[in-house]
Amino acid sequence: MIRLNGIRLSHSKNTENCETRELECPKRITVSMSQHIGAPAQPLVKPGDEVRVGTKIGDADTYMTCPIHSGVSGRVTKIGELLLPNGKVCKTVEIESDGRQTPDDSLSPPEITDKASLAAAVRASGCCGMGGAGFPTHVKLAYDENTTRIDTLIINAAECEPYITSDYRELMENAEGVIGGMTLMREALKIDRVCIGIEENKPKAVKLFRDKLRDKKGFEVLKLRSSYPQGAEKVIAYYATGRVIGEGKLTSEHGIIVLNASTTGMIDQFAKTGMPFVARRVTVDGDAVGKPSNIRAPIGTPVSELLSAADTDTDSMKRLIAGGPMMGISVYDLSQPLLKTNNAFLAFRSEAERPQPTSCIRCGRCIQACPLGLMPCEFEKAYDRGDREALNKLKINLCMNCGSCTYVCPAKRPLAEKNQLAKGLALSPH
Ligand code: SF4
Ligand code: SF4
Repeated sequence: MIRLNGIRLSHSKNTENCETRELECPKRITVSMSQHIGAPAQPLVKPGDEVRVGTKIGDADTYMTCPIHSGVSGRVTKIGELLLPNGKVCKTVEIESDGRQTPDDSLSPPEITDKASLAAAVRASGCCGMGGAGFPTHVKLAYDENTTRIDTLIINAAECEPYITSDYRELMENAEGVIGGMTLMREALKIDRVCIGIEENKPKAVKLFRDKLRDKKGFEVLKLRSSYPQGAEKVIAYYATGRVIGEGKLTSEHGIIVLNASTTGMIDQFAKTGMPFVARRVTVDGDAVGKPSNIRAPIGTPVSELLSAADTDTDSMKRLIAGGPMMGISVYDLSQPLLKTNNAFLAFRSEAERPQPTSCIRCGRCIQACPLGLMPCEFEKAYDRGDREALNKLKINLCMNCGSCTYVCPAKRPLAEKNQLAKGLALSPH
């Protein structure tokens, strides 16, 4: 079951009018070989190799892997290692920049005529979801045309987490690119209906896209209610089509492809220029940030340089989050490199509030708030008694960790945190 009510959050979109600034070319980048969900890439270069902007430096034969390219021109200095937030270690390619940002000579626009050439081009571009989830984009296009008919393409521009405005700036600064990506996908995949979903708290973007798409047949703008988590894939798919994405199913199995707005702009960039995914826009905000900003930087730029470009007082900073306050993860090491999936870094002067939980009062608010109709209070009880069977029956695997249940709980129970642990328990061997 999907619910459309969601929860109301303060938007705090302080950077909505901040035009994107280019970060001064970093002296050194550290490019992680694990940029998205799926299998990591393997380095294709070694210390001493010269690279240019757009040179492929990592790839793998595995289905769920995107190639990785250099965002600077310079020389490879090291193949290193990086500890990821999930506790796994991946390889990195460290590159010293020559400051010239020379593009790779071999880059040229791909020829895209049909689904197969589109999927090949999207894979070659290194595109993965830029809204945070990081699903490899070419995998969304890998459906079988003989058995699956895609009738709806949804461009997800909801950006429902507080603070983050990187997709909004994409809409305002690169509307033609986003529409170019939508048109390309519609033609190559022969899709009847293409819609872009924008929350109503972004009226300028709604108007801009309504004006630009007015005379384009088959295109529409969906003005979405401002509620969280409106941008979750299953939620926006339901809102746009009324279809419920089944357990363990991809949206393509229900005739739908959902793509993030910045990802769509990136596909257009690759189609027109051949320049792959080497840099991205990221929002830097929070009360420890002196100059809240949207900054474009090469993938692999140290987070410390992004914070410094936004005049962040790192001495008073107590908390740094990659992503939004609801689903983001804490960053403990400022040398951590920018990833393709990082849409924001939020720096705060205070620690996260951890109020003392009291007993569950069985009010049911967590159940009402869950956009997927799950029962978080029952998850907690099943987890506490170590009941794997009950967790599986309650469908703990469907929880997308949106945090809405924790947010509404009057007893301040850490439900979303427990859900993560409960997922691990449900999957663990007996
Ligand atoms: S919202 Fe909190 S107090 Fe209410 S039922 Fe859920 S866990 Fe219990
Ligand atoms: S964190 Fe999971 S259980 Fe809680 S509201 Fe979100 S989807 Fe539902």
